[in-house]
Amino acid sequence: MSRSAHPAGPRHADVLPDGHYSAPPADLNALDPKVWAQTVARDADGVVTVGGLAVTRLAEEYGTPAYVLDEADFRARARAWRTAFGSDADVFYAGKAFLSRAVVRWLDEEGLNLDVCSGGELATALSAGMPADRIAFHGNNKSPEEIERAVRAGVGRIVLDSFQEIVRVAHIAQSLGQRQRVQIRITVGVEAHTHEFIATAHEDQKFGIPLAGGQAAEAVRRALQLDGLELIGIHSHIGSQIFDMSGFEVAAHRVVGLLKDIRDEHGVELPEIDLGGGLGIAYTSDDDPREPHEIAKALTEIVTRECEGARLRTPRISVEPGRAIVGPTAFTLYEVGTVKPLDGLRTYVSVDGGMSDNIRTALYDAEYSVALVSRASDAEPVLARVVGKHCESGDIVVKDAFLPGDLAPGDLIAVPATGAYCRSMASNYNHVLRPPVVAVRDGEARVIVRRETEEDLLRLDVG
Ligand SMILES: *Cc1c(COP(=O)(O)O)cnc(C)c1O
Repeated sequence: MSRSAHPAGPRHADVLPDGHYSAPPADLNALDPKVWAQTVARDADGVVTVGGLAVTRLAEEYGTPAYVLDEADFRARARAWRTAFGSDADVFYAGKAFLSRAVVRWLDEEGLNLDVCSGGELATALSAGMPADRIAFHGNNKSPEEIERAVRAGVGRIVLDSFQEIVRVAHIAQSLGQRQRVQIRITVGVEAHTHEFIATAHEDQKFGIPLAGGQAAEAVRRALQLDGLELIGIHSHIGSQIFDMSGFEVAAHRVVGLLKDIRDEHGVELPEIDLGGGLGIAYTSDDDPREPHEIAKALTEIVTRECEGARLRTPRISVEPGRAIVGPTAFTLYEVGTVKPLDGLRTYVSVDGGMSDNIRTALYDAEYSVALVSRASDAEPVLARVVGKHCESGDIVVKDAFLPGDLAPGDLIAVPATGAYCRSMASNYNHVLRPPVVAVRDGEARVIVRRETEEDLLRLDVG
């Protein structure tokens, strides 16, 4: 279709309706390797493939929408983190980003540990055979039942998040005749998001015990006194989608300062320090994430330097990447349903999913990319917005994107970098059925989480 068939939407460099300046990429058929999973490519016919399989075939076999996950890429990223940190550190994959039994097995095989933060995540991890001593249990409001299950299972650590929880976990462990290994999560007064960090007053949130005012030191005092607990370290998680290491620098400085105070007061050098996760990925070509080996080098240097300054033995470091491992490995495959050009504004492209399979755009104003994947096109780019099928005008998947002007119902489009916090945050809004997760590897595909059915929905509705 020519531009006259789609009159809406500026074609070239333009000011978007919300005032942002944007220009279409030089080639809409190109797939930026920064945002697409490793094995994604466009074949000679213009069809996008992943793991050697055409998306058109995947759509036929598994339907749309579907999350398509590149298993080789997942394993490669997990391995890169593991290798980068070496044997003197531990990498805990943050299961909340996306957890399934297949993922647990991949992590186990690649030598990673696992963070869980609910009974459901713990059950998934254990049912897939993750050794309990490689599981860390997180959360600001773990129920007594969850704590008991975790202690009984023998999880490697519980990360304590409040004064009440210190007592609660100690009591439960003791009543089971156990001594539970724990860390205390503190807030260091740093909050990092994307390219910036703020080093003031970010104790004002639900997680952790503030370092400020001596609260963290008091928590350590109490934990050290309780027989049911073995305090192994201090935990700090400063934010998400972080690109800049300076937030970690301040956090490490403050955590090591606490370790020094603990040594001075109690004569104890805690053996571990956990710096959390939050490392950023590329959602669009504008994002420039760091490689795991650069991150490992930077974090190790920071902690070593701080400990030398404080005359402490360097503790064992652990990190907890979630998004950085799974985020880039998957894309969401959608079928275009309607294409609605709005004069002078943009073209609205409706797909067969939406905020139920990707809430991040509505929730965080997240940015995503999108491409036509069932064919190549040389049509002029049009400014588009990819929206879902939900009864809600905020149901936006990709806010601003350029797509070929000949886009039509039945085309397949894909949104890359949806591996993290999309399936795991998916809902049944409008009684829409949650999409499957299809893993591809070496020319083969298999469903690792199946598509929800109407029977699944009705099974819960016992009315
Ligand atoms: C969410 C979370 C992570 C993972 O964050 P990503 O941004 O996915 O890397 C790690 N640790 C803790 C404690 C978290 O809450």
